[in-house]
Amino acid sequence: MEKICVAVRVRPPISQETSSGFFWRVEDNRISLHKLHGTPISGISYAFDHVFDDSCSNEKVYQLLTKDLIHAVVDGFNGTAFAYGQTSSGKTFTMNGSSNDPGIIHRAVSDIFNKIQMISDREFLIRVSYMEIYNEEINDLFAVENQKLQIHESLDRGIFVAGLREEIVNNAEQVMKLLESGEVNRHFGETNMNARSSRSHTIFRMVIESKGKDTSSSDDYSSSDAIRVSVLNLVDLAGSERIAKTGAGGVRLKEGKYINKSLMVLGNVINKLSDGAKQRAHIPYRDSKLTRILQPALGGNAKTSIICTLAPEEIHVEETKGTLMFASRAK
Ligand code: ADP
Ligand code: MG
Repeated sequence: MEKICVAVRVRPPISQETSSGFFWRVEDNRISLHKLHGTPISGISYAFDHVFDDSCSNEKVYQLLTKDLIHAVVDGFNGTAFAYGQTSSGKTFTMNGSSNDPGIIHRAVSDIFNKIQMISDREFLIRVSYMEIYNEEINDLFAVENQKLQIHESLDRGIFVAGLREEIVNNAEQVMKLLESGEVNRHFGETNMNARSSRSHTIFRMVIESKGKDTSSSDDYSSSDAIRVSVLNLVDLAGSERIAKTGAGGVRLKEGKYINKSLMVLGNVINKLSDGAKQRAHIPYRDSKLTRILQPALGGNAKTSIICTLAPEEIHVEETKGTLMFASRAK
């Protein structure tokens, strides 16, 4: 398998801070922590495949980080792109974007439809689904009645979420409309960090099935080439902040525990995958719903990108260090 592509992205500052002893410096593909008027702070400097500073657009992130992955999916590979980071660091901005700078999902969907239109010798069938994992329960964002769905495995379907609605789609506009309706169903909670922080992982999935058009005059269908199926997952992870910081109890505490556990499992899985084939046999996909669902698209014939989003403010420096640790384990 190819190496996992790892990027970090620093969002522009939101809160105006008066005292500011440190700042994050981005130079080429390196990010490091510096004292305000001078020296780098030793030991806190990381290099990644890409480091995007706060002036970087979603368009540039898409071009540099995800475009090749998307094109590979059209060519028959599985692909997964994750956004990882604490609440308010820019995960959803990166995935969903804004009206004047659409995010990765929008760009991927348009790109896929544009690409397949140019392939004249194959017929395509595209299906999309949208799910969230909230407290280790899988809910369907296209059909609110589909809650607590189970993961099954069968010989012909592989690993799948039973009962998840899949919509057949013919153009990008149709997908964007479906996503808007799904967005309303996402779980939002209030914590004292962010009034509308996302407490769930969401997976937007596109399944691309294609079959060679029969160019021979034979009407024996089995003679045309095999059906090719590939899966693209675009994942907006739940906030990675440690529980203590949100000052949470009760429901929020329970959510935080589930989130922390599944992100830890994800980190372990990705770490083992990036370590290479030797360890493949021991990859703990089954330890969380997220990794189990993504298993077919992470191992084997697959491409993976991770964008770790960072909040630049000094109050977030510990979380930011944690996110950089996660990112560097994924390399
Ligand atoms: P998260 O999903 O990680 O909780 P959001 O994507 O909701 O964070 O980002 C928090 C806020 O910061 C939002 O208002 C968002 O529009 C803004 N924001 C995040 N990243 C950027 C960016 N790169 N450029 C401009 N605004 C951003
Ligand atoms: Mg979000």
